[in-house]
Amino acid sequence: MNKLPLAALLALSLSACQQSNDVLVVGTNATFPPFEYMGGTDGSTVIGFDIDLAKQIAKDAGKTLKVENMNFDSLIVALNKGKIDFIASGMTITPERQANVDFSEPYYEATQAVLVQVNNATINTEADLKDKKIGVQLGSTGDIMAKSLTPAVTAFNSGFEAVMELNNGKIDAVIFDKEPAQSFLAKNPTLKQVPMTFTTEYYGFAVSKDNPELVATINQSLNKMKANGEYQSLLSKYMK
Ligand code: GLN
Repeated sequence: MNKLPLAALLALSLSACQQSNDVLVVGTNATFPPFEYMGGTDGSTVIGFDIDLAKQIAKDAGKTLKVENMNFDSLIVALNKGKIDFIASGMTITPERQANVDFSEPYYEATQAVLVQVNNATINTEADLKDKKIGVQLGSTGDIMAKSLTPAVTAFNSGFEAVMELNNGKIDAVIFDKEPAQSFLAKNPTLKQVPMTFTTEYYGFAVSKDNPELVATINQSLNKMKANGEYQSLLSKYMK
């Protein structure tokens, strides 16, 4: 019972292999404009700077890119369970994450930004944040930084949700990566950014520690895009 002819079994296993060999699965959290966000004609496609870089990486590897959209704090778990091949999600390279995953070479220099309501006069310096309610994205570098400043940190599944809460006056400030923060700011005239200087962060693509070949492929592809002008043209396309 249950016996398939050998040829059929071979054909089945071959097609399964071919499928996984042809496809490179990238995990992302599409709430992080301009790096990854929902767009396209009907708003149901994940697009952005990271996605275009990831598409070219897949192309250079002779594969098609498949995008898996999930919560930011699920990405490293999904990667280490083999559900995705790599992470392209504005993910900062940190020593804590490097204990669990490998990173490509840095591909973008970033920093954190502080957003408050436009009429806020009490938050002007980092010290002013100490007794304030701060909203962040769960598991982000902003989350870690906020917790070092105050115990009153609320973590949301996206920076966007934190910004909504700020708009509603439920929290005093949002700490989030500068580019997406500025993109939210452009749509929320009732908010402003408070100029503060934080450390520089570098985004990298994360890959399982079991897959050093993919790290090498990604680095080669990135270097090629930097050399042939593709990287620069994507920067001009997405960073306003
Ligand atoms: N750069 C931040 C981090 O790595 C936030 C990334 C994100 O929210 N997509 O934690």
